[in-house]
Amino acid sequence: MTSRRQILQSAAITGIAATLATPALATPAIKLRLLETSDIHTFDEDYDYFRDMPDETVGLTKVATLIQAARAEVKNTLLFDNGDIIQGNPLADFVALPGNFPDDRTHPTIRAMNLLGYDAATVGNHEFNYGLPFLDASLAGAKFPFCCANILHEDGTNYFKPYLILDRTVADEDGQPHKLKIGVIGFVTPQIVDWDKAHLEGRVRTTDIVDAANLYVPELRKQADLVIALSHSGIGTTPRRGGEENASFYLASVPGIDVIFTGHSHRVFPGPDYAGLENVDAVRGTLNGVPTIMPGFWGSHLGMIDLTLAPGEQGWKIVDFICTNRPIASREGAQVTSLVSDDAAVNSALAPDHNKTLAWIRQPIGTLNRPVNSFFAMIGDDASLAIVNAAQTWYARPLLANTAAAALPLLSAAAPFKEGYQSPDNYVDLQAGTIAIKNVADLYMYPNTVCAVQVNGAELREWLEHSAEVFNRIDLNNPEPQPLLNPHVPSYVFDVISGITYQIDISAPARYGVHGKFNPNARRIVNMRYQGIPVTDDQKFVVVTNNYRADSGGIVPKNHPEAVVLRAPDQTRDVIVRYILQNKVLDVAVPPVWSFAALGAPVTVTFKSAPAAAKYLLADAHISRLADNDDGYAVFALRLT
Ligand code: MN
Ligand code: MG
Repeated sequence: MTSRRQILQSAAITGIAATLATPALATPAIKLRLLETSDIHTFDEDYDYFRDMPDETVGLTKVATLIQAARAEVKNTLLFDNGDIIQGNPLADFVALPGNFPDDRTHPTIRAMNLLGYDAATVGNHEFNYGLPFLDASLAGAKFPFCCANILHEDGTNYFKPYLILDRTVADEDGQPHKLKIGVIGFVTPQIVDWDKAHLEGRVRTTDIVDAANLYVPELRKQADLVIALSHSGIGTTPRRGGEENASFYLASVPGIDVIFTGHSHRVFPGPDYAGLENVDAVRGTLNGVPTIMPGFWGSHLGMIDLTLAPGEQGWKIVDFICTNRPIASREGAQVTSLVSDDAAVNSALAPDHNKTLAWIRQPIGTLNRPVNSFFAMIGDDASLAIVNAAQTWYARPLLANTAAAALPLLSAAAPFKEGYQSPDNYVDLQAGTIAIKNVADLYMYPNTVCAVQVNGAELREWLEHSAEVFNRIDLNNPEPQPLLNPHVPSYVFDVISGITYQIDISAPARYGVHGKFNPNARRIVNMRYQGIPVTDDQKFVVVTNNYRADSGGIVPKNHPEAVVLRAPDQTRDVIVRYILQNKVLDVAVPPVWSFAALGAPVTVTFKSAPAAAKYLLADAHISRLADNDDGYAVFALRLT
């Protein structure tokens, strides 16, 4: 009896051997697993330094466990990092302060990466945030090489090696060793020279990512069996103009690149974020047919490309690939489930700097000259939003210098985030006196980044009409106290725009309502003025805001991306920390921005706040404490006329 195996063997010999019996056929495939981390941002530990508590959704120490597991499953792996490693959380800020660089002359993130045995890495835009000497000192501790092809010294020579050729011995499926030359070329967003102008002007310049690839990939291709691009740049598919921040898609059209590692956008690819784009396979993970991966951010995922290489006429050829992102945690609604434990060796390597950072975030970084709270942020000007707006303006003004936007009035928008949502404890409540880094999360609880948009007077008014949606329409003929706030509209909608003054007429119906309701005849924003003079519809302004407002449509129409005049690389929270560090003693000013328009009749409105708010009422005759709710909130009454 002939076994099935024998039949297959004999078929192979008699049927196809004639055409494929080249010497190469004797060599089985090589399976090569390429691992990627990106945008770790010094989230080395699974810890949130702003909340001062462990966080299961972040940390290179968690990814380390995934790396070890991924290595144990296969014969051949290489590990790469795609940049944004030394900046992004209080640990990074602490290490960058004078005198705090570790005694072993090794940046903690680099120390952890050395332990994990990275093969190569590129730099991200944030590597430049603390200046070139700090960057150089940090990378000097690495036991693995860096490359980046599009950063040059002023004299035109390369700042980094543009590419690397790694000599590696890998095992084929039969366990036989083969020598492979693995080419690695790095790229970073050319915008670093704008974002870190203060550090880089006169020192380095950048070139277009695709231009740099066209310059170097042909010579790299000749020397390598495989060419891997480490692209610290996201995926954009709009027609190419040159100089793009997110150039990985265009990079995929450069001949000779086998695999692309991406990052910078803090997203996951393949994945639904990129569905429906032409020449992008958001399920299998290709850009223009080139296997590509982006593994989230802060250590959320380990990126993995499994290649099958077969011998071809001109060396090894990719015959199959699988792109996978392995998460460290899963999330269902508010419920987070940790999927891996952290790595003891990484933890102990990080312990000295982690512990010093914990002490630092709990220490004062500045002083407030008055209490700052959000108890009354919905009824008038308040210090918690004034600080955010002041910090945003302070940060954005120099970044906009030398741009067309610099000539325009600079305004700033901030909304109350911690405004009693879900809990009467959920308010900003900072005392006069010292403020610590961990308190800054109270002032700004979301990890948004700073953006600025150009709008005209008419658009500014519409923006504020959206804000005014938070208020119920007040009936002037009703002698009873009326609830002020629409319970269906969250407080984060309520942008307060500093730099202008305006009134809100809550006796008028809302122009915008929930579920896209629009009342074209309704107007609540009245008496909008800039420097005391009424704002005209075509007057131009720049408003500092966050990436969410700039990108989500509504404020900036989706078909007008050019209205975004600044897309800063920094989180608003980090900007506030820097603002406090710089000022030391914060003289908190609350300039007049908005108030309720006169109603022409006495009306009482009610709103909920924390019971703790009562102590700040002092002698304000217009506000009184009405009642305590069973739910932990206190009800206040505001008399308007
Ligand atoms: Mn990043
Ligand atoms: Mg980046």
